[in-house]
Amino acid sequence: MVKFIVDSNVGKLARWLRMMGYDALFYQDIDDDKMIKIALSQNRAVLTKDTQIMKRRVVTNGKLKALLITDDDPKIQLRQVVKQLGLSCKMRPFSLCLECNVNLVKRAKDEVRNLVPLHVFKTQDEYMECPVCHRIYWQGTHWEAMSKELEKFASEI
Ligand SMILES: [Zn+2]
Repeated sequence: MVKFIVDSNVGKLARWLRMMGYDALFYQDIDDDKMIKIALSQNRAVLTKDTQIMKRRVVTNGKLKALLITDDDPKIQLRQVVKQLGLSCKMRPFSLCLECNVNLVKRAKDEVRNLVPLHVFKTQDEYMECPVCHRIYWQGTHWEAMSKELEKFASEI
């Protein structure tokens, strides 16, 4: 499965890719050299709007995979990535933390009793926790909204 590093000028893509189960690194502030170094060492594809990066030798000689994002709208950006790289736009929820990009860990219902709102606890049986930020994930409304968006999007491709 292709892994990504998302440039700060297309940062919104990171959450969408994580929602789809794709490992997508994102740093708020990172200079191009450092980003390219990480991409090369971890075999990640760079997503960027920066045409200067596309002119670099590592990109033009094919050593580094980079995709120039052309649109400002994150949904159109995602569509471009999916199309050009032939990604599966199936949702793989409960796999990666949307904030930290790390694998979530399963939690028993009893363990989260005091960590989630009561109405959630009463209606949801499956929980995952991020080992880094300790956010608890469940199939809530936020999730459904993103999932619907992806479905709609998948049907349009
Ligand atoms: Zn996290």
